[in-house]
Amino acid sequence: MTVTVRFAPSPTGRIHIGNARTALFNWLFALNNKGRFIQRFDDTDISRSTQEFADSILYDLHWLGIFPDVTEYQSRRVEIYDAAVERLKAARVLYACYETPEELDLRRKVRRTRGLPPVYGREALTLTPEQVAEYRSDGRKPHWRFLLPNFTSDPLQPERTEIHWNDLVRGEETVDLASLSDPVLLREDGTYLYTLPSVVDDIEMGVTHVIRGDDHVTNTGVQIALFQALEAVPPVFGHHNLLTTASGEGLSKRTGALSIESLREDGIEPMAVASLAVLVGTSENVATMPDLAELAEHFDPAATSKSAAKFDPDELFVLNRTLIHNMPYSEARDRLIVLGVSGDKAEPFWLAVRGNLDRLADAVQWWRILGEGPEEPPELTGEDRDFLREAFDLLPEEPWNGTVWKDWTGKIREATGRKGKALFMPLRLALTGQPSGPELADLLPLLGREGTLARRP
Ligand code: GLU
Repeated sequence: MTVTVRFAPSPTGRIHIGNARTALFNWLFALNNKGRFIQRFDDTDISRSTQEFADSILYDLHWLGIFPDVTEYQSRRVEIYDAAVERLKAARVLYACYETPEELDLRRKVRRTRGLPPVYGREALTLTPEQVAEYRSDGRKPHWRFLLPNFTSDPLQPERTEIHWNDLVRGEETVDLASLSDPVLLREDGTYLYTLPSVVDDIEMGVTHVIRGDDHVTNTGVQIALFQALEAVPPVFGHHNLLTTASGEGLSKRTGALSIESLREDGIEPMAVASLAVLVGTSENVATMPDLAELAEHFDPAATSKSAAKFDPDELFVLNRTLIHNMPYSEARDRLIVLGVSGDKAEPFWLAVRGNLDRLADAVQWWRILGEGPEEPPELTGEDRDFLREAFDLLPEEPWNGTVWKDWTGKIREATGRKGKALFMPLRLALTGQPSGPELADLLPLLGREGTLARRP
């Protein structure tokens, strides 16, 4: 059977690095198993889901290097869920409930004061036909609950019922169905909650592995029961730990914190995001991988820790710098062209400046300095100015070879007696206007004799 995974966000916001972790776990798992990747939008909540968010999620996935085999929208598949509802009703495992949220709240409180677990007590199963008729004539519409198989013959007497699975990430897992409320599958207004459409789609789309955050562990107990009620074999489940901020808070799509979009706008490279999103909170060392194929080689769901993984954005900047410092020109070329960095000098320029960049786009600043001169005229003392004039007069004639910087500064040292910082800092300031930056030995050939002399103070 072809390994088939899915990434199933609700399109209710931009995805963040934690969502990217789930998407990448699935993508890399598919990559390592020659599998298929389904992009599924869980958009049954039509009031909060938008096509714009769905499109932005696809854009972010492409940016990360994830290209789904198919894209599905749950909002277009309601008839399939309706058919499943009919099957569950026929099997008498879906029942109508008429309580209002306030009534449920009150019942939970009563149960708590009696020392009972605050789960739904299945009171709807005890309604008489007259009571149901009364609710209906009052205009109350039912919501529908799935009767969890946690009893022998009387649903009002639930018993400990363990659901077991061997989790791809967490190993042996157990959920006791008696500790849970029968989940509501359909709301009063006929719209679906997440649980049933997810299971129906996993069956219909041939999903073999469900890899998602560990906030879904309890859902899995319920969903396995639902797979069984629909006479399907449950897929393999894997629940990875969630990412939190450095201060331990969860990430939220709604707040936009650490969204993939904001990281992209900050100039973070996709492979810096992907490397950290996948390797943080695992037994692997966090390091930048050049591409997803290599990241896949370091990906092992079983190596993921069970506790939450703290995510430090500063680490992202460190990884980003490493990627840029090692990025070959062939990879940077097209993006540099877009930024106006092109021509014969573009490659030596890139190799000269990349080691000093935090972001690829920062190359533009150096391209401008080399092409047009320092942004601000450097502040020089009278003494340094005299020194520089003498130094520039010693600039070797062209053609230059690879040792021109060494030759020039050798001559300057000899003529002026200056050395070390006293020699190099005024030269750096005159040539670039900046107190630090790429090696002057690499910049000088890019300036050429004419460009260098144009900077003589
Ligand atoms: N829409 C659900 C979520 O974003 C999907 C969970 C799942 O993968 O089943 O949490």
